[in-house]
Amino acid sequence: MPSSLSRTGQTTKSAALVVCGVAMIARYLLAGQGAVLAFHGLRADAVPTGVLDESLHLPISVFRTICQHLAAKYHVMPLTEMAATLAAGEKLPSKAVAITFDDGYASNYELGFPVLREFGLPATIFLATGFLDRTYPLWFQQVDLALGINQRGALTESLAKKLVLLKTLPDPEMRLQVHRLVERAGDTLLEKNPAVTQALSWDQVREMQATGLIEFGGHTHTHPILARCSLEQQAREIETCRDRILEELGVSPTLFAFPNGGLGDHSQETLRLLKAAGFTSAWTMVSGRASAGHSIMEMPRYGAPESAWETEATVSGGFELLRQWRGGAA
Ligand SMILES: [Zn+2]
Repeated sequence: MPSSLSRTGQTTKSAALVVCGVAMIARYLLAGQGAVLAFHGLRADAVPTGVLDESLHLPISVFRTICQHLAAKYHVMPLTEMAATLAAGEKLPSKAVAITFDDGYASNYELGFPVLREFGLPATIFLATGFLDRTYPLWFQQVDLALGINQRGALTESLAKKLVLLKTLPDPEMRLQVHRLVERAGDTLLEKNPAVTQALSWDQVREMQATGLIEFGGHTHTHPILARCSLEQQAREIETCRDRILEELGVSPTLFAFPNGGLGDHSQETLRLLKAAGFTSAWTMVSGRASAGHSIMEMPRYGAPESAWETEATVSGGFELLRQWRGGAA
């Protein structure tokens, strides 16, 4: 074996040992707290997706590796159970983890559900109900497809820049700009219908619900950033989402995930509206441990890890601990 390969192997082994050690310490120090992972879509391995930004759609082989790791080493629990425990101010069971998906992609059913069933892992899917109703496509996916057509080979960075800019705009203005981009793309956009951007059907949702393994939460109706909406629009988005889930599934959702999920993407008024609509916990995309110390309406989640090692470092709290140690040393 060439020496460079041998060194790479040794470095990997050393890194793995360090992760293991830090993870063990983290699990001890952060006992009673949990980790919630936020996935979006999934994609088949080695098949072109047809979108510029593939990062929202994890390859299924990677997702399977993550599930295998979690099933072997962690206590994966339904998010409703985790939320109820935290709302009661109690500690979570040792090694508590919850799996969530945002938006409601068909790939959650086609690719993810068989894997979750294989390992017996519960999960929550947060639904943007207008996406499932086929009345409101996910606007950021429209931007992705339109840029791909308008700029012919546009780089992912230009999409990222465009999305950052769009996310700062008041919702009506953002929608207008997206509409213009889509218009410029013309009929080609309508013909584009990549598998990764397709929505779940309500039948698929009901089938998953019937197994008792998968639960569903709200994620608004048209996926706006709520802080960029008027109060009336926020109320409409939250209530329509709740009503559509109740109509289709026969139960009112109690779990909610904020679109985009950053700290500035909702307001105190949003939290009041959510409580009034019957939601009892809400989940951001701000990284952190889920613990009784957090407000139950602003619970943290971790973005999707991309390997078993990253999963271990994330859910064990190892990353968290290193951040705290670094912060303490600064
Ligand atoms: Zn979303």
